[in-house]
Amino acid sequence: MPKQENGQKGDSVIQNDLSESFEEEVRAFLSDEEKLHLFDDLTKVNPVTTTTVLRCLQARYRVNLFYTNAGCSLVALNPFQPFSCLYSPELMREYHVALRPQDLKPHIFAVAEQTYRNVQNQMDPVNQSIIVSGESGAGKTWTSRCLMKFYASVAASVISPKGNETVERIERRVLDSNPVMEAFGNACTLRNNNSSRFGKYIQLQLDRFHHLSSASIQTFLLEKTRVAYQAPNERNFHIFYQITKGATAEERLEWNLPEGAEYRWLPNPERNLDEDSFEVTRAAMCHLGIERCTQSNVFKVLSGLLHLGNIQFSNPVDESQPCDLEDKTKGFVKTTGDLLKIPVEELLESLRIRTITAGKQQQVFKKPCSRAECETRRDCLAKVIYARLFEWLVLVINESIYADPSVWTSFIGLLDVYGFEAFPENNLEQLCINYANEKLQQHFVAHYLKAQQEEYAAEGLQWSFINYQDNQNCLDLLEGNPLSIFSLLNEECRLNRPSNPALFQARIEKALSSNQCLSGDRFSKKPNFIISHYAGKVCYQLAAMVEKNKDAVPPELVHVLQNSKDSLLQKLFPVTENNQNNIKTQNRAPVVTVVSKFKSSLEHLMQILNRTTPHYIRCIKPNADCKARTFKREEVLSQLQACGIVEAITISAAGFPVRIPFQRFTERYEILRKSCGPSKRRVCDKSNSHTAEEKGETPVMDEDKASRSAVLEILQNVVMGQTTAE
Ligand code: ADP
Ligand code: MG
Repeated sequence: MPKQENGQKGDSVIQNDLSESFEEEVRAFLSDEEKLHLFDDLTKVNPVTTTTVLRCLQARYRVNLFYTNAGCSLVALNPFQPFSCLYSPELMREYHVALRPQDLKPHIFAVAEQTYRNVQNQMDPVNQSIIVSGESGAGKTWTSRCLMKFYASVAASVISPKGNETVERIERRVLDSNPVMEAFGNACTLRNNNSSRFGKYIQLQLDRFHHLSSASIQTFLLEKTRVAYQAPNERNFHIFYQITKGATAEERLEWNLPEGAEYRWLPNPERNLDEDSFEVTRAAMCHLGIERCTQSNVFKVLSGLLHLGNIQFSNPVDESQPCDLEDKTKGFVKTTGDLLKIPVEELLESLRIRTITAGKQQQVFKKPCSRAECETRRDCLAKVIYARLFEWLVLVINESIYADPSVWTSFIGLLDVYGFEAFPENNLEQLCINYANEKLQQHFVAHYLKAQQEEYAAEGLQWSFINYQDNQNCLDLLEGNPLSIFSLLNEECRLNRPSNPALFQARIEKALSSNQCLSGDRFSKKPNFIISHYAGKVCYQLAAMVEKNKDAVPPELVHVLQNSKDSLLQKLFPVTENNQNNIKTQNRAPVVTVVSKFKSSLEHLMQILNRTTPHYIRCIKPNADCKARTFKREEVLSQLQACGIVEAITISAAGFPVRIPFQRFTERYEILRKSCGPSKRRVCDKSNSHTAEEKGETPVMDEDKASRSAVLEILQNVVMGQTTAE
């Protein structure tokens, strides 16, 4: 059994029994910056340490080599400048027709082509997934878009749709889903001008001739709070800027969007971005089959939300009365009502008056809301409309790219998912995102270990793994049974009373103290808990977490939306038999919490992923300022840790750090065979030579001078990436 060396312990590949001069020679070789960029696979770097990996990536970045293999992952550094030749149709073709695409330079097209060939070769499992991860601004969406373009090109459908000239070909529709989803789901944030505020899984479905026949999209956790709250220097979703900047004079009248009008929920409109193009969104919506009049309805509702945001309340003189409206905002109540086709009085009542059912007879009482409550209701109204609109849009897009499952036989899934997040303040959103990353990390490690084991088994090597970090403990803490953070959060939501964060913290600590992944920040005055994730510790604030998890919409708001005369809102808020005009029923509706919804959609996704052959693309942001030609080591390192690459490298270092196919080894290093006796069916490296000794075999290395120079040659070749693991 091989010795479990942890490559991170030091930079030296040479063991003590080799002379210092030899060690120096290898060191000198490794420090040859001129050659470092030649490493095109990080698992070939020897030793694999974070330092050597970082240096290689930096050396490659310097010479515009942005892609590097890392075993079964591809590391993608964001260039933050256009390199059109990197994504040209000619290059797509080059990878597509190559005999062995993996022998070309590492590239997302190599991953894409290999994935496609796996489908064609009926690999087991035949369905494939490409998991694109990384922090905000690292290039996930860009990468997913390029992958979609690649498949739209190499797997283009052959038959035009149903002989109908007006319907766009499927690949066009699939590509057009991008600008639409991005207009409604992306926003300019401090970290990325075009930041996706939702997770996305798209399945590209192939027929038996491996042509694109259809697709389906699943989204996760849209950040709907952005509609009503934008952090300083950030913006609302792009679509709001598009309509206010791009509407025609006629539309401005119809949607009540006079030129130059100001909206509280439309900060920083002066920033002009490429993403502000209304025309692109509209054209894509047309291609997807969304009719102009439906589009117009959507934009009118969005305009209604901008007007809603301008409604402001003030405290009434008499506290028993509903809140007053600030004078300058009175007109916006009317325009909101007009645009959403809701009678103004009903709209105002739903925002300012709470209905309470109490007593044995379940009597209904009306109570004026405080100013803060009115504001919360206003924001909630906007959020629920926007969230349902987004869901509806995804549904419409899915209908447009759908085909009966009998038409397609396999699929390639692309997952563009938010990376691990750790901010100064973290709440339910980060808890969900980091939970998703824990799940994906577990999936990755399981797959990586399996792939390694299979490789060793094929080589006839005995092998057992020890010492890799399993994140099951952390997942138990988050979602385990019977008690976990999620179960306690849900329990707290079911209790029909306001949650007390400090008491809730005590409950969490008492119930889960035995889990080592849980701790707390004793120095903070705010109730919190800390989770030790595989990618680092994150402190979550408990204030408002339970309310966020409930995500409750006051029934009066649902009621008023159900009674709207607007045909789109009627679709978004259908009146079902038992909730029609019945606030009592809605009050007693079971709580489906954010975490339970998210957990079940993630479980569904994991089931799909588990039945596919996975490929991983790890996007890395070389600097936080989104600047070209700037590589910040610290920042890259923390991302390598967060995306699990360091973990993978550690696992790889725990295995055989050098892998040379037996055949090639004996052919190439004949000299060794002569000096060492009969060759062995074994990968040779000094750190593993004890295994030969254990078995009574002649160690591969000895103090013989010729042998030493041959060993140096081996190491040089390995270091230079001239030898490959096959
Ligand atoms: P993420 O989805 O990970 O948040 P994006 O894919 O939106 O990040 O990328 C952020 C920005 O980085 C893009 O808008 C683009 O300007 C730039 N970018 C990303 N990948 C590339 C690339 N391969 N080449 C050039 N620019 C890129
Ligand atoms: Mg994105």
